[in-house]
Amino acid sequence: MSKFDGFISDAESESQLRRTGCGVQTLLEKLAEDDADQVRAALGRADITHQAISRALKRRGLTVSAFTVGRHRRGICSCPEGEQ
Ligand SMILES: [Zn+2]
Repeated sequence: MSKFDGFISDAESESQLRRTGCGVQTLLEKLAEDDADQVRAALGRADITHQAISRALKRRGLTVSAFTVGRHRRGICSCPEGEQ
């Protein structure tokens, strides 16, 4: 058994993960369409802070850090371009 057995398939699945986007995108995909729309609306509102979105999600049992929300909003997260 080499340490590198299955290396290519590991790398492939990692790049798959990256293509699926950040925590915010993963969350949006997991939610029902109506719920996701509400989160997207909040994300689009400049008067709602990253922290507030993170806390409101937490109340519903969903964990996304304010940091992740901020990265997603600024477009510097791992989401594929054009899908934010
Ligand atoms: Zn993102």
